[in-house]
Amino acid sequence: MNEITQRFPRKARASDRIEHLSWTLDLDCALGFAGRMDRARLEREAAEMAEHFPRWILTAGKGRERVRCRRCAGPLVFWRGLRCALCGRDFDRGSKIGRPRLAWFGLLPPIGIGGLARIDEALRASTPEQHVLGERPGIGRYFLVPLVAAYPSDFPRSAVRVHYLPGFFRIRGMPPDSPSHATHLYGQGQMCLFAGGEWQPETTCRQVLQQRAYAHVVKLLNYANGKRRAFAKVS
Ligand SMILES: [Zn+2]
Repeated sequence: MNEITQRFPRKARASDRIEHLSWTLDLDCALGFAGRMDRARLEREAAEMAEHFPRWILTAGKGRERVRCRRCAGPLVFWRGLRCALCGRDFDRGSKIGRPRLAWFGLLPPIGIGGLARIDEALRASTPEQHVLGERPGIGRYFLVPLVAAYPSDFPRSAVRVHYLPGFFRIRGMPPDSPSHATHLYGQGQMCLFAGGEWQPETTCRQVLQQRAYAHVVKLLNYANGKRRAFAKVS
């Protein structure tokens, strides 16, 4: 398969300029963290993400938590092994955290919040860490939401697990970060995206993000804006 290039922005040492690190995704190393997923499936997952979510990085996580560099807290990426994107330190497999799992991390495409006055006001007052509030001609006011999409050890028998970061639940109007049927949440920021028996093993992470997770975020923003039936089925 073609090589997949990943990028990560960081501040240049001597200035405030942003420079982009880039590396070729080390799929051989990633496969060692992929549980039961086979090489062909991992290649397909990575190729689709590179095409549709090119800024997302493949990293290592535990649930919603991403494992960080022990020296500088930078993100771990698959770059000639598993190492810190900022300082290059190798991930120490002997560390006490146990074996992390493969996870994608990145921002969803812009969600227009022009019609969500309460959310817009809450975000202007305080935008959670790693979330982005902006405005652009043509789109108007928009919000970028970071998510962690983690592969369970028995993927693809079980679905990709998509998590909000903790800060999302601190937006005014959001429900608590706990299990809820009303808002389709499992707790720990995990979205409930599939009814029992609905998951199809051939569904990719890219498809879950585009077809389910994006809609979940839109509904939860509407819910927090006051639309209590945001998650009601339209039929
Ligand atoms: Zn580091």
